Order: sequence, then structure tokens, then C-alpha cells
Amino acid sequence: YGELGLKGKNKSLFIGKLANNIRVAMRDLPDCCVRSTWGRLWLEVEDTQKVRAMERLQQIFGIYSISPVAEAEKNLESIGLTALSVIKQALPNGGTFKIETRRADKTFPGTSPQISRDVAEMVFRQLDDRFDAEMEHPQATVNIEIREEGAFVYGETIHCAGGLPVGCSGKGLLLLSGGIDSPVAGWMAMKRGVALEAIHYHSFPFTGEKAKEKVFELCKVLAKWQNGPVRLHVVHFTEIQKAIYERCEAEYGITLKRRMMFRLAERVARERRCLALFTGESVGQVASQTLESMSVIEHVVNLPVLRPLVCMDKEEIMKIAQRIGTYDISILPYEDCCTVFVPKHPVINPN
Ligand code: ATP
Ligand code: MG
Repeated sequence: YGELGLKGKNKSLFIGKLANNIRVAMRDLPDCCVRSTWGRLWLEVEDTQKVRAMERLQQIFGIYSISPVAEAEKNLESIGLTALSVIKQALPNGGTFKIETRRADKTFPGTSPQISRDVAEMVFRQLDDRFDAEMEHPQATVNIEIREEGAFVYGETIHCAGGLPVGCSGKGLLLLSGGIDSPVAGWMAMKRGVALEAIHYHSFPFTGEKAKEKVFELCKVLAKWQNGPVRLHVVHFTEIQKAIYERCEAEYGITLKRRMMFRLAERVARERRCLALFTGESVGQVASQTLESMSVIEHVVNLPVLRPLVCMDKEEIMKIAQRIGTYDISILPYEDCCTVFVPKHPVINPN
């Protein structure tokens, strides 16, 4: 767990949270167990559930990498046999490898390099000439860890989502439209450990049921990353939009509408004990996202307004959306904000 290792005195809190999040994510898998020992978390699952468990682990923030591990008995013979099968699995057509040993249990005889050499000697007796040792740039590295509770061998490291365990950074409220940006902003907030609720402004009948369903679907995708459902607050916004349209200067329509969105979001956030608002805004993307606009709009609230995408290009945002599975939902063609209400020339520098 990369970054969590740097947490100093709070480390055990973060790791406890992570272990708990893993337990929750695996709760329907039979005979599954999560343990935390020096520097690592261990997940035990039945063989039949292994693939499923590994998929889920890749959606849990706070995990940097996972390795499927084979357990050996604590003697060289058994470690050698296990290493052999790990090598064959990692390199089915042969190739170069290296063996690395960590002897955490100092009562085990020999030094770490010596164990590596002994195991290498044993496995080479069983391997043909398609296999070779290579210390600088091996195709596979076989890791042996000898610990008090057993000897473990692994040859594969799968990179995961990184970040911090969801929930350890408090709770935020995400302004979630049906567009591409805001779900990505939510995902990035979760990645930093923020648990999210979401708020969506709905302008029925100008925006239809389908537009709302799209937001439900986005919440479901986000929920997979948050270890539990994302509570969605749907706010009927039609009357406010109409009033702004009828009574205010057209160029200021969007500025005023967004100020109302922020005001309402702040109220809901306070009721739900959310500590910040999150949006999918990015500097300069549209008229309401110039620095002048953002400053005038956020002026109406006292909670911090956090914008995870603030300096990202649309292209980068779209790539993330595709990777996390929100893109295909976001591009469904139901309009989020009725075009009736969009002025031809919105102000870009309100004051
Ligand atoms: P997105 O792709 O997230 O819709 P956008 O580039 O279309 O963003 P805007 O429409 O200006 O930009 O919205 C900026 C941000 O305001 C959104 O990212 C979102 O956080 C919030 N927002 C916009 N419309 C709504 C809505 N109907 N309900 C809730 N939040 C909204
Ligand atoms: Mg939008």
C-alpha cells in the first residue's frame, strides 16, 4: 500500500480502514479472511473465488499492487517446488527470471542471498534450456518471503488504483450532472479517500426521466469504487430556472443559475455533514469556468468548493472516464440542461 506506508503515526488508522473496506467488498465471498501483518495485508479466498477477488481488489482505493501468493512449507525443499510452479506459471514459454528472498524470520537458516541461490539451483535441475537466470532485466521476478507464519512465493505484481481508502478523508457532496466531467471529478475525490454523496438538479419537463436515470447509472458505477451506494439527492430545479429566465438579464443566466446550484448544494451538504462541494469544472472549459466566473459563482457559499479536474484537458478527462466506466453512460444523448435556458452570449467575466 504505497502512500499509506508514509503515514507515520496515523498509519494504523489508514490500514485498519483499508482492511475494513476490503472486508466489506468481499463480504459475499465464502470463507474469506483479511489479515494485516507487518507491511502487508493478506487476503485469503477459496481458489474458485480468486479471479473475482482480484478484480474487486483493483477497484479499492488505497491498494497500490496485489500479488497472488502460493504458500510453501517452511523448508527449502517445499519452497523450491513452489518456486518452480510459480516460474512455470509466470513464464509458460520459458524466459529469464531472478529469485529474490526476504528472510523476515531470522530463525530460518541461511542468509537471503544464500536461500535465493539454493532455490535457483533446485529449480534449474527441473527446467530445460528455455529458462535462464538474469539479474539486471529479468522477465519475471520470483519473490520468496519467509515469515514467522509461513513461507510465501509470488511471481506476479498487478498494479491497482492507488490513492487512499475511501472514508478516511471525510465526506463530500458531488454536484453530479449527466456529463463526462463530474463523474470523473467524483472518482478522483474518492481516490483521495473522500466518501461521496451526490446532488443532481433536474429540470422536468425540460429534461426527461431518461436524463435522471442516466445519473442513477453514474452513481452505480461510482458506488463500485466507494464500497457502498452513493446517496443521490435529486433537486427539482425548474421553477428556479424559469424565474431566472423570465426575470434576469439573459447573459447572466448561467452565472445566476450556478449560484443557485451552489447555494442549494451547500444547504444539503450541511444537513448531510459533507465538508466540501466537488464539481467537474476545469479552468477555461466554458464561459462559466473562467476564473472570474468561478470566483463570482462560488462567492455565495462558505464551504470549500473543490475541483479535481481544474487543470486537466478534456482529452485526459475523457480517458479517465473510459477507464473507470462512466464514459459510455455520460455520452448517452439525453440533454442535461435544457437548451431553452442557455443564453446566446453568456458573460465570461461577471463581477
Ligand atoms: P459535466 O461534464 O460534469 O456536465 P460540463 O463541462 O458540462 O461538466 P457545466 O455544465 O458548466 O460543465 O457544469 C459544471 C459543473 O457543475 C459540473 O461538472 C457539475 O459538477 C455541476 N453541474 C452542472 N449541471 C449540473 C446538474 N444538472 N446537476 C448537478 N450538478 C451539475
Ligand atoms: Mg454538463
